[in-house]
Amino acid sequence: MSEISHEQVRRIILQRLESLARAGVTGLPRLSRPGEASRPGEAIREGEAPAEPAPRPGEASREGEASREGEAPAEPAPRPGEASRSHAHPAARHPPVRASRTATTGSLFSPEPAMPRRESLSREERVTALAQVCGEVAACQRCTELAATRTHTVFGVGNPLPRLVFLGEAPGADEDAQGEPFVGRAGQLLNKILDACTLRREDVYILNILKCRPPGNRTPTPHEAENCREYLLRQLAILQPEFLCCLGAVAAQCLLETTTPIGQLRGRFHQFQDIRVMATYHPAYLLRNPGAKRATWDDMKMLLREMGIELPPR
Ligand code: SF4
Repeated sequence: MSEISHEQVRRIILQRLESLARAGVTGLPRLSRPGEASRPGEAIREGEAPAEPAPRPGEASREGEASREGEAPAEPAPRPGEASRSHAHPAARHPPVRASRTATTGSLFSPEPAMPRRESLSREERVTALAQVCGEVAACQRCTELAATRTHTVFGVGNPLPRLVFLGEAPGADEDAQGEPFVGRAGQLLNKILDACTLRREDVYILNILKCRPPGNRTPTPHEAENCREYLLRQLAILQPEFLCCLGAVAAQCLLETTTPIGQLRGRFHQFQDIRVMATYHPAYLLRNPGAKRATWDDMKMLLREMGIELPPR
């Protein structure tokens, strides 16, 4: 068996600590020495704001470099009365096998739980549970190529008690560098969409189908989507959102396990477990096709109406 170098150990530990910090963990329990009781006050301090990932020496944010969202394949805008010509994501043509590899199968956070009632988990319980899954993601090696080429895993960020979750496809270059979803150009547009909806990033939770960047920003393979689905399902079981907005064809088709084009999925509600799901165009597509912004805004207004959120008069 090949030996692991000190540098590899240092990198794995650093990644894991950064992932835990992004999940909201700002302290770790102190290990008890033999004969010494652990002190509850030194346990994980859940509920504190997640730390912003500090840029690493010599690594500036690569805003000038197109993110995955900025490089996503264009999704053709549907014409009135015409089905979208966008093709289904390959992962949706091979419906993912519902994962059962978790070591916690049968627990509250097993991948296919009967969804507990929304009130059943406190903020602290959610933060702790998310940190647990986040730690597993940070160490995940299921997709050999992705695990070998990623800089950071990108777990997700936001409110652990969200009414609304946004689901994207996979990290891009900016996200891989910073360990946070939607921080590139497409992320800036998502921020503007949220602002128009009178929402802030910290009001919602943002996550992706894949937690690792596909090299060269290629489309996730069906196998990768299958591998990562367990983590997504566990995140949703913990977050228990009322509403979820899929951003783009890959997110919508993977979640809903369908090959229906995004042009036909958008503009109406779907059901995933007990979550009301809206699908709309990916912000990257909107950057390339500004004419589709109106359709996306219509989708967002429909979502807000369903959530009971009134927009101020313009
Ligand atoms: S994409 Fe998901 S399943 Fe694949 S290596 Fe990354 S965390 Fe693991």
